[in-house]
Amino acid sequence: MSSTAKQSVRSYQNYINGKFVSSATGETFAVYDPSTEEVIAQVAAGGAADVDSAVKAARAAFDTGDWGKTSAQDRGRILFKLAEKIRANAAMLSELECRNTGKPLVEAEYDIADAATCFEYYGGLANKVMGQTMPVPANGLSFTLKEPMGVAGQIIPWNYPLVMAAWKLGPAIAAGCTIVLKPAEQTPCTMMEAARWFEEAGLPPGVVNIVNGMGETAGAALVAHPGVDKIAFTGSAAVGKIIVKSAADTLKRVTLELGGKSPNIFFAEADWEAAVDGALFGVFINQGEVCSAGSRILVEKKIYSKFVEAMTEKAKKIKLGPPMDRETKMGPLVSREQYDRVTSYLELGKKEARVASGGGRPKEFAKGYYVQPTIFCDVNNNARIAREEIFGPVATVIPFENEAEAIRIANDTPYGLAAAVWTRDIFKAFRVVKAVRAGIVWINHMQPTYVEAPWGGYKQSGFGRELGPWGLEEYLETKQVFVNLDETPIGWY
Ligand code: NAP
Ligand code: MG
Repeated sequence: MSSTAKQSVRSYQNYINGKFVSSATGETFAVYDPSTEEVIAQVAAGGAADVDSAVKAARAAFDTGDWGKTSAQDRGRILFKLAEKIRANAAMLSELECRNTGKPLVEAEYDIADAATCFEYYGGLANKVMGQTMPVPANGLSFTLKEPMGVAGQIIPWNYPLVMAAWKLGPAIAAGCTIVLKPAEQTPCTMMEAARWFEEAGLPPGVVNIVNGMGETAGAALVAHPGVDKIAFTGSAAVGKIIVKSAADTLKRVTLELGGKSPNIFFAEADWEAAVDGALFGVFINQGEVCSAGSRILVEKKIYSKFVEAMTEKAKKIKLGPPMDRETKMGPLVSREQYDRVTSYLELGKKEARVASGGGRPKEFAKGYYVQPTIFCDVNNNARIAREEIFGPVATVIPFENEAEAIRIANDTPYGLAAAVWTRDIFKAFRVVKAVRAGIVWINHMQPTYVEAPWGGYKQSGFGRELGPWGLEEYLETKQVFVNLDETPIGWY
């Protein structure tokens, strides 16, 4: 099938208690291909009633079902099976993720492989959860049991749909939780395809439930539901704040993976070619719709003009095009809403700074939410384009005088998700690593994320960590057990 051939409109329901079901109201919403602006799917619009059914199913599966008797080894096997299905269907899933998000097919292929890798990682980790023994000063034994937290509500964004689902489902299933997950309204397709394999993979009914719908209705109902023990959320800081307030009423455990305005710092002695490349990759990959985008590019004054020039030259050659085209390096933004948001920042940026390249809509596309990769230079770190997360292909380049000033500017942000530093001076690199307040700092790279290593934010980029054993820990409670080995009465009274 050619990349431009018309696709039939898919139809997706919710997945509750092991069955695909319509929403209680029977309503649906449309999902689009952002490169053609055409509808590609109609999806059940879940609301409070559907969330309630899903939470009841998850509650029952956790409290009274056989799930609690499943061995950790068997939960691991389920995750391996899911990974196997994803790998076997990688071509279909990559194409669907590409059409639904607008990201280049090549990037979608990486994503689908990453999602499978994440399930495999947690498949392997499931039976390596261990408690500890404490040397208490008593004739007894004190040790800990690690137990699943209960019903987890999971809410994910649209930029890496199946990857974000895997980051959430993998550790929760490994831990033995039951789950209600709400995909982003723009991008439910790959999750719903994968849900078709849940039963075959060995997940009993009610263990994983997927409710589609809007954040303000389905998402909010999940956060408020008294039957949910924990909320894991990835999305904007604005919604994160709403979630913390609502979850406080039932004192749910909450983990938040929020946005950022991450500094990518370039010192004069950095490898030139690698640095220019890294500045562009850090901010423009996935159309800049990346929570850890290096959207504040801090450049030492000694190399500033030349660096901006080199970035601009290269940025002009970035190939925008249909996401399904293998030559494409940048596709459209995910939605009309995101396009409007990003282009409004482009207008603001023209008032706040100087445009080095881009700055608008590329002329060659009649349809689709395309935006030129845009570089604003001579930006003041107090400008709104340097403070607010834009979540699109928009770089702000900020000059700095010396190391101390670079660190001050890097930390002058409400966010703290990520940072990167480029230099060949190892002492300088590690001084910056220690000084910057962020959940990850790359040296001479920006963006690679590995399932083995922790991911999460400082400051208003959220709290809690995903991936690695840290991600699993967020779905576990710790129970202390004390065994008295002294068989005589206490003798106090
Ligand atoms: P968003 O608007 O915050 O939405 C994220 C999710 O929350 C969606 O599923 C959304 O539902 C739901 N939601 C919206 N309002 C809600 C409410 N009142 N109660 C409960 N749920 C609600 O963010 P987005 O625009 O999808 O994603 C972009 C943001 O995510 C950026 O800020 C980015 O930095 C962040 N992000 C962070 C990471 C990380 O790991 N730190 C990774 C990816 C993205 P609908 O889809 O129906 O609106
Ligand atoms: Mg919404």
